Amino acid sequence: MKIHEYQAKDILRQSGVPVPDGQVVTSPDEAAKASQIIGGNLWVVKAQVHAGGRGKGGGVKVVNDPQEVISTTELLLKTSLVTPQTGPEGVNVNKVLVEQGVNIKRELYLGMVIDRKTERPAMIFSQAGGMEIEEVAKETPELIWKEYVDPATGWLPYQARNLIYRLDPIPAPAVVKQLMSVMAKIYNVFVNRDCSLVEINPLVITAEDQVFAVDAKMSLDDNALFRQKDLLALDDPSEEDPLDLMAKEYNLNYIRLDGNIGAMVNGAGLAMATLDLIKASGAEPANFLDAGGGANEEMIAKGFEIILKDPRVKAILVNIFGGILRCDVLARGVVAAAKKNQIAVPLIVRLEGTNVEEGRKILEDSDLSFLLAKDLAEAADHVAGQVKGKD
Ligand code: GDP
Ligand code: MN
Repeated sequence: MKIHEYQAKDILRQSGVPVPDGQVVTSPDEAAKASQIIGGNLWVVKAQVHAGGRGKGGGVKVVNDPQEVISTTELLLKTSLVTPQTGPEGVNVNKVLVEQGVNIKRELYLGMVIDRKTERPAMIFSQAGGMEIEEVAKETPELIWKEYVDPATGWLPYQARNLIYRLDPIPAPAVVKQLMSVMAKIYNVFVNRDCSLVEINPLVITAEDQVFAVDAKMSLDDNALFRQKDLLALDDPSEEDPLDLMAKEYNLNYIRLDGNIGAMVNGAGLAMATLDLIKASGAEPANFLDAGGGANEEMIAKGFEIILKDPRVKAILVNIFGGILRCDVLARGVVAAAKKNQIAVPLIVRLEGTNVEEGRKILEDSDLSFLLAKDLAEAADHVAGQVKGKD
């Protein structure tokens, strides 16, 4: 689960990480009040959306006139924001963070993730922080430094020194001390709040030698949310893809991919094999949809509807091995969904297992048009045929 910058900053602030003063607002009037309460003469107005790269898309504005705090808020709230991480259609901005601006002297990068290879949390640090960090990681990876944490000892001060003393020039001792404190606190937040990602980019050193987390991105491990109930309340469904929300509501295991062949499968193993099959046929899957072993007719119908609602889908492959989920239940679900939604793309069905005859009969007796594959090889042929446009 992703959370907003302002929510992540609340958590960081509570944990003792220095964060600029700020207030989240939903109208220009509130923005006017916020700039007064925050005071000073430099403010940052920031769109609160889950997508990153806001600076590049005009979603972050540094202003020195309270009137501009108001006009920028107004503009952000009524336009849809396009960043390198959103689609070309952009995303709506419902909330804006108004913050005290700081005088940035240096922009660093600080992040923590789980490193799968070493199976440990990894602290990632760089002196090339800021909006170009993706390019830095690609072109000059030697400028990005890592320390892996042994969970038995936790984060140790020498590890912080290993990272900080690679900075060139090495900051003043008072700054080193602040950076060490921030790193230790980030590790604590990461572990105590079951994060899968904490990213501060930029972590800045100001002209006054103060260290601040100017940006914050935080993702929480969904499997740990049962023990982070207060964080569960930070979920913002308006940021999620409507198809993802629908899948969640019906307990379907759905992951959007980049291709155009919709796949409806039961069981994660079969789903993986089916994706391989689609790829081997020269096509690309549009999604991973595992209805699970215990799916009922309604879940199947919803799953099928999710695939149908995806405008990118040019053909659908239903590959079901009936076990606990019987083929007749699957067939009824597919027929029910087809009745509600027009199927304008070719449908390929491969059914095997419990009640397969009954399932096939239900499909044949319906007025659905579909290509029945008797086995996986034939299903692959049909998919390949669709790709070439001659099936
Ligand atoms: P992102 O583009 O979505 O990662 O948004 P950020 O919160 O990282 O903001 C983008 C850029 O705005 C940062 O890299 C900074 O250069 C700049 N910025 C953000 N806050 C301040 C601030 O308080 N003062 C100044 N001078 N620049 C800021
Ligand atoms: Mn950033």
